[in-house]
Amino acid sequence: MPINALSNRISTVFSTMLKSVGKQMDHRRLTNYIITINQKESTEEILSELSHCLKDILNYRLFAFVIQQKSNVNIWLDPRIYKQSLEELVIKDFNIKDRTNINYLNYTFSPEETENKEEEKKFSMENLSSYEINEDDYFARVYMITKKGMLDFHDDEIDMILRTTQTAISRQIDMKKLSDAASIDPLTQCYNRREFETQLKRSVSNALRHKKELSVFMFDLDHFKNINDTYGHQAGDLVLQRVSALVRDDMRTGDILARYGGEEFIAILPETNKQKAMELANRIRGDIASRRIKVDGEEIRVTASFGVADLGRSSDINKLVHDADAMMYKAKLNGRNTVMPGLIKVCPSVDSKQKVKS
Ligand code: GH3
Ligand code: MG
Ligand code: MG
Repeated sequence: MPINALSNRISTVFSTMLKSVGKQMDHRRLTNYIITINQKESTEEILSELSHCLKDILNYRLFAFVIQQKSNVNIWLDPRIYKQSLEELVIKDFNIKDRTNINYLNYTFSPEETENKEEEKKFSMENLSSYEINEDDYFARVYMITKKGMLDFHDDEIDMILRTTQTAISRQIDMKKLSDAASIDPLTQCYNRREFETQLKRSVSNALRHKKELSVFMFDLDHFKNINDTYGHQAGDLVLQRVSALVRDDMRTGDILARYGGEEFIAILPETNKQKAMELANRIRGDIASRRIKVDGEEIRVTASFGVADLGRSSDINKLVHDADAMMYKAKLNGRNTVMPGLIKVCPSVDSKQKVKS
């Protein structure tokens, strides 16, 4: 789809501000920017290059790229002193109901702008130009305030560089979709078992290389067959979705959660010793058990049994998974809704105190 950019300008003041005129960029430089943008592999890198290019062409005072995919809105902003004013504008332009959907990508800083921190917080809407990119998978807006005036050739340059950005971002989103399809479980959005195996190999070799601890926990939902039999398979699917989202929320960013099989999950916890992994597993166990999952007016409750294992000094990946599985089996035998090995409360007894004295 073409960019509505130039037809969709908020302000025409821009082109009449010809106080000082920017120079036309030499074609070789522009071509270099276009090639570099096309070689970038992440949205952050693409936008960083775009911001360099636009700084070079127009010496902007403000540049923001706002990209919306589903309910997520990512903002690239330079410089960040305009964060507050821009965010208000974005909330209106993108009709955002929930601010927690807004996420800031890497900032770049223009040192001279950061120095004038206090004065520069607000910008005048009159000087603001805006361009739109409308794709099937995303919607984006570019906001810009330039220091210099703009001539027709600037329009052409911006058009060319934004088209390149649009293509680069679309390609990057397509590639992510392809790799997600191969590695993400569509029902729960957790990693699938194949991806888990790849990630575990990577995590274990990192742990061994940097002499860091690593633990895993495995859990299986208790009597899940009963849930399907009582509430139906669709309700069962919803329970799987809710439980996996809850577990992901409880985990740290670097932790990895995968769906290992039907109602069985496994988590990789880098830089985590066994005791900490048992504590985390127990907290998650409690959260699952106390959650009421609402389906068609019914409240479904579910519990899970956990097995924890750590890498220790071994480098045996199969043993690590096998140990967690064996512990989970023990948790089932121990009455379910439990973590194995169980947490040992450190609380010195009278006997042990006496032993120390004697
Ligand atoms: P236990 O406490 O011993 O684990 O009992 P359980 O009933 O959970 O174990 P069992 O292995 O007998 O049954 C697992 C059930 O999980 C049966 C299967 O239909 C259900 N299940 C597996 N994958 C899915 C799924 O994707 N969606 C739904 N709704 N159910 C699933
Ligand atoms: Mg089960
Ligand atoms: Mg099972």
